[in-house]
Amino acid sequence: MFGKRTRREFLSQAGTLAAAGVLAASLPEQHAGAATTKGPHDFAIVEGHRDMWEISGRTRLPGADNHLPITSHLVPRLIEAGMTVCIAPAGGGDSLEERDDTQDLLEGGLRVLDLYLTDIAQSKGMASLLLTKSDIPSGPTRGKVKFFIDMEGAGAIQSSQPEPMIPKERNLALVRQFFRLGVRGIQLTHNGRNQVADGRGVDKVGGKLTPFGVEVVKEMNRLGMMVGVAHLSTNAIIHVAEISKTPIVSTHQNLESVTHSNPPVEITDEEAKIIAKTGGIVGIRYHSNTATPYTKLAQEVEYLCKLIGPEHIGVGWLGHDKANPSSHDIEGHLTKPRTFTGPEAQTVYEHYDNFIKALSERGLTDEQIGLVLGGNYLRIWKQILPEA
Ligand SMILES: [Zn+2]
Repeated sequence: MFGKRTRREFLSQAGTLAAAGVLAASLPEQHAGAATTKGPHDFAIVEGHRDMWEISGRTRLPGADNHLPITSHLVPRLIEAGMTVCIAPAGGGDSLEERDDTQDLLEGGLRVLDLYLTDIAQSKGMASLLLTKSDIPSGPTRGKVKFFIDMEGAGAIQSSQPEPMIPKERNLALVRQFFRLGVRGIQLTHNGRNQVADGRGVDKVGGKLTPFGVEVVKEMNRLGMMVGVAHLSTNAIIHVAEISKTPIVSTHQNLESVTHSNPPVEITDEEAKIIAKTGGIVGIRYHSNTATPYTKLAQEVEYLCKLIGPEHIGVGWLGHDKANPSSHDIEGHLTKPRTFTGPEAQTVYEHYDNFIKALSERGLTDEQIGLVLGGNYLRIWKQILPEA
């Protein structure tokens, strides 16, 4: 049986990105800044991966607002930032309770999904789910934001039976049930190993997908779900790319040629190319421990433009904002004053505004910036999602 301790061990190690990385020396000099006149509200922004730690943390606190954390705390910030769609990992092992091993993955997955659905239903139309092709926005939206529900790791759809006894036909029922509840993407693993595949934190090279994993990908393709490979081992990424009939995505991983985290979760240039070749997206994410995170992210985007093209790049997450404390000190943040510095002292709007300027200064056109910020997701969802 899949061991809780192993999972917890890896999750607890998944800390902040280390400052080890520097960009490859081959990057060209910065272009003379042809600054764009556009800002966050001029683009259809799709954020590839907003961890739910803040949301689950707030539900532990008193106050009615904290029991509708999405409507009360998150949605207003996203709308102010001009966000069109937020890809939200709900369930699969990403809540504080699951990370603390106080709730198993299926129960946790269902509970967290209920939290999203209940909260969004009370948003008075400010928030809604992106479920079908007809829900895909055609451009920037004002005053509302859609949520695309993703699962980080397939833990919640696993069998309680040991391999090789996994009743794969029966367990595909869980994929279908989560789909019916609104889940539209599954990242096949987190850093650990599960009944679908090996996560790169336990084995970077890893094995192919398990027979059950193959069936999961096929069923996701059939239903119209986005297949996620963030945290997946190399051989599993290759295998998914071979069998998936629709584009695959890494929603929130940087390149290991650019930065290193501890434990290492970045992907290689070669893996980025494999993902792009399926028509998919590599979503970069915030670099901590640097005074100039947006400059560094923009340099990474420029590097990826040359490696795989701007039509295969996305944005995972641009960092904590001043109203979004890190998971480790959410309770402290809300009960005692905390000093914010650097990007953490900024709003989500400012993050995107700074990033857009940095991309423009690296020479990206407004059209290319639009693809990176969200246009690419809107395109592949037209290939992936169910008609209605
Ligand atoms: Zn992750």
